[in-house]
Amino acid sequence: MTIQAGQETIIVEALINGQNVKSLSQLAKENPTNPTEIVGYFPVTTKEQAVEAIEAAAGAFKTWKQTSIDERIIMMRKAIEKIRAAENEIVHLLSREHGKPLYDAHGEVYVSLMWMEFACNEAKPALQEEIKEHENGKTILSYDSIGVVAAISPWNYPIALSTIKIAPALLAGNTIVLKPSPFAPLAAAKVAEIIASEFPAGVINVVHGDADVGVELTSNPYVTKIAFTGGTATAKHIIKAASETIKDMTLELGGNDAAIFLESFDVHDERAMRRIVISNFLTAGQICMIAKRVYVHRSIYDEFVGKYIEAANRWIRIGDPFDSNTTVGPVNNLKQKNYVLGLVEDAQKRGAKVILLGQILDQKLFDQGYYLQPTLVLGCNVHDPIVVEEQFGPTVPILPFDDEEQVIHLHNESIYGLTSSVWGKEKDAISVARKLEAGTTMINTAAVQGLDVRFPFGGFKQSGIGREYGVEGIRTYTEKHVINVPKTLDLPYIPE
Ligand code: NAD
Repeated sequence: MTIQAGQETIIVEALINGQNVKSLSQLAKENPTNPTEIVGYFPVTTKEQAVEAIEAAAGAFKTWKQTSIDERIIMMRKAIEKIRAAENEIVHLLSREHGKPLYDAHGEVYVSLMWMEFACNEAKPALQEEIKEHENGKTILSYDSIGVVAAISPWNYPIALSTIKIAPALLAGNTIVLKPSPFAPLAAAKVAEIIASEFPAGVINVVHGDADVGVELTSNPYVTKIAFTGGTATAKHIIKAASETIKDMTLELGGNDAAIFLESFDVHDERAMRRIVISNFLTAGQICMIAKRVYVHRSIYDEFVGKYIEAANRWIRIGDPFDSNTTVGPVNNLKQKNYVLGLVEDAQKRGAKVILLGQILDQKLFDQGYYLQPTLVLGCNVHDPIVVEEQFGPTVPILPFDDEEQVIHLHNESIYGLTSSVWGKEKDAISVARKLEAGTTMINTAAVQGLDVRFPFGGFKQSGIGREYGVEGIRTYTEKHVINVPKTLDLPYIPE
């Protein structure tokens, strides 16, 4: 294993009760562009250390919940400033450990800060208690802190999907134990440490590892809420682990988001073509809300495919994430690369035609890293695995459809319902959008290009439970507590 000259090796440790805690064993995080290069080391937290972190959070909660919302907002704003000051360093680390190009890593930090700012601006009105005087007396509705939050994040957007939990959880008066993914643990841990430096010891704790630590976080009786982003299969284990102690949960899970192009879509709109290509291949397709299957009305299908290939070949430049020409980097890890390759090979065996997209800027790098050339898959059947499963990588099937009812059915028969998009004349598109089972539907754009942190984000069906972002993404870290003061104390139907 070599360490590239001039690139610092990062070592992160668990953070428990304000202290960095050494672990007996550490794991190496490789660079996906060059798997022999170690970007940094992170610990394998033991079960005992995970318990310590949870107990530290439970201890800190007793005083933290007494702090005023104003104090919490001041601390969070200081943390935001510190992240901003360290932004370049964070972005470079994220890009090296994840493989996403620099512009994409910048985008992730940009969205994270936008959300943290929103949470600071909105926390006070969102958590303000409501007092209602009515004909039967007075009712007070307060948004109380829940307690210890176990926050478990995935590898694809490790900073955004950690801060999406940390900011509202702390602003609402809870304490937290964060576990980033072992596939991208370094930048998320750095950001969590920066935030933690502005808060009292024990309010934010960070542990590392995979399922073993995850099981402790999701079953420990001191944990009262789980905020999880990751795969649907993992969520099923989490629900079981949490069932003994009935924990509050927000689950943001997988998706198989469809993009539907209606007859009224203008295939000559080059900007729209660029938008759909980006919606398929940003972050090498490794986004929960990326458009993962494309349905095009048969009347425009052939022309659409031709224009799509032109647009894809213009936008997709596969290379070094640190090269400003690169738009698509490697896949994050070998398991994911092999999974995506398997789906494409399976589609080919079933008779589909596979078209390679974009240009490879550096063949040597491409051969040594976890790179995959983006592919377009044509001629597959509507129920082929590449269509119905979440590929989470740089490949996309495009299928024709004949009428709206058929495509709405194809959309809604999925077990998932995270996001979707409808493209065409706005009126037609909104009319179809209303019939889709999805947490968010975008019109004439898709994926992160249509994301708005001011509104709730989450999925129907097996794409999750609950919502993040928006005012709901703050209130989800509270228990709703009603204090009733009825005027009429004796109920008329209860006998004397
Ligand atoms: P994953 O489910 O494998 O892992 C997610 C996290 O769960 C990691 O930190 C992992 O260590 C931890 N974990 C694994 N087993 C656990 C267990 N038994 N108990 C507790 N924690 C456990 O997911 P991933 O591969 O990191 O991420 C990709 C998936 O995440 C995709 O399905 C994607 O769609 C989904 N995702 C969803 C959203 C959303 O907002 N809906 C956003 C991003 C990613």
